[in-house]
Amino acid sequence: MYFLLFQVQDPNTITSLSRGVITRDKSVVNCDDAVRIGHEMQKDLDNESPVKSMKTSKKCKNLADLQKKVRVGDKKMYIEKTLLFNRLVIMAERYEGIEHIFNFELTPVPTALFTMDRMMRKPKKHEFGKMLKEGASKLDLNIDNKIHVVDGGWLLHQVKWCSGATIKTIVDTYVRYIQNKFKDATVVFDGYGEESSTKDHEHMRRMVGKKVSQDLRVTPELTISCDREVFLANEKNKEALITMISSEMTSHNITVRQAREDGDTLIVKSAIDLVASVNRPVVVVAQDTDILILLCYHRPIQCTNFYFQADFDGLYDISTIDIGDREEFLFKYGWSGNDTVSCIHGHTKCSLYKCRFPASVITAFTSSTSTDSEIRSAGLTAMQITYGCEGTPLEQSRYMKFKKQAAKGKIDPDRLPPTDDATAQHSCRVHLQVAVWKHLDTSILDPKGRGWELDSNRKLRPKMLSGSIAPDNLLKGICCNCKEGERQCQNMKCSCLKAGMSCVSACGVCSGHCSNGIELIDDEVGSDEEEAD
Ligand SMILES: [Zn+2]
Ligand SMILES: [Zn+2]
Repeated sequence: MYFLLFQVQDPNTITSLSRGVITRDKSVVNCDDAVRIGHEMQKDLDNESPVKSMKTSKKCKNLADLQKKVRVGDKKMYIEKTLLFNRLVIMAERYEGIEHIFNFELTPVPTALFTMDRMMRKPKKHEFGKMLKEGASKLDLNIDNKIHVVDGGWLLHQVKWCSGATIKTIVDTYVRYIQNKFKDATVVFDGYGEESSTKDHEHMRRMVGKKVSQDLRVTPELTISCDREVFLANEKNKEALITMISSEMTSHNITVRQAREDGDTLIVKSAIDLVASVNRPVVVVAQDTDILILLCYHRPIQCTNFYFQADFDGLYDISTIDIGDREEFLFKYGWSGNDTVSCIHGHTKCSLYKCRFPASVITAFTSSTSTDSEIRSAGLTAMQITYGCEGTPLEQSRYMKFKKQAAKGKIDPDRLPPTDDATAQHSCRVHLQVAVWKHLDTSILDPKGRGWELDSNRKLRPKMLSGSIAPDNLLKGICCNCKEGERQCQNMKCSCLKAGMSCVSACGVCSGHCSNGIELIDDEVGSDEEEAD
């Protein structure tokens, strides 16, 4: 399997086996040349004083350095986020005045909502689920006459695959598993249509750091030599397996349903229909907290005999979970992050659950007919409340929090509230997700233009900002472009020197190899150790 991984790659690219990041650009990533770079560094140090330091720009660059790029016009620069943030603030202080600069993110991505690899920050849904379940009454598994709705996505990861088993054996094991553990079951699988979906990003996020098997021709006779997780990480293989499991289950009188895309809404819909139509205990078997939330939100007011089973330790009586006002509950769950909405840095689901939001905000987010401007304005209020600064514009509280950080001597852009621009995109994604949950319909609103855009592979990815990360004139000035020569970066034509800053590796011509360059002992080097591949 690993051998095949090497075979399919283009020999001219450098690929991170753990993350799948690829580059051809040798000027940016040169870690494959580390031995030569090391020899050169050593040569420079020969016969020098033991305290001599080296230029940052001379160090070996790995694939993690790719994540620091900032686009200025059509040029990409590589600069660490806190360094960029600090340089922009210094430039603004010198030339523009600092008041309005905080209306811009000043970092390559809105870091309150996204990580530097452009992935949405992931919430700890599980903790919130645990908090809800703590208040619920719990029964043992042996209640009579129960009927099950099983999350197929969960099921796929439950059954043990023996090494060297054929697909047929594996399929039979799944059928037997349902027959033994869940009498009277409806199994609901996710769909894997060709259409782009807001779950594309979550699928990508789950793949980070995972090994993926190549496409296989899945037939009953095929012997599986890789791990279950490696096989299932390939969506084509997974889909082929689901098709075979579905047909085998159907022939054994197990009801199977397959969603058009994400299975969550279909699981909840199937369960709610059963609760309304059969006079028997209905048990939903799933581990995803989203499903528990949706069951609580959608359960009929007068309903007993409705249970959630996440493991084999018992059944939670859904009617005993107190969620307070349903609309407020659904909004807060959406706002605080899930598979299609970033979590807000430093604000957990459990802490935001305790916040009070005005009825007008909740109405704007839970009505699928709200206008764009209603959602944006409600979103700004909600973000102010999240950061405990209701009534103060985000721009102003960003500046105030920055001043506090500066006074303490530790600037951390991640901890500042997001800008109005980033908040607007976040709000659109929350509104979309809440509408899908509320109507249990994934096609209720078009994601394009609602915080989502298509990438070059026609997959949906979250839109981070509609405008720029900083005013263009400041971005152009953060690095110099001084020509080579004796006086390079030594007069006021050098924008770095003029602003009182050192040259960095992102500088166009000098790349920091000049009399104004910064030394290796700088912050820029220390901060990327954790990201090394
Ligand atoms: Zn210069
Ligand atoms: Zn320079």
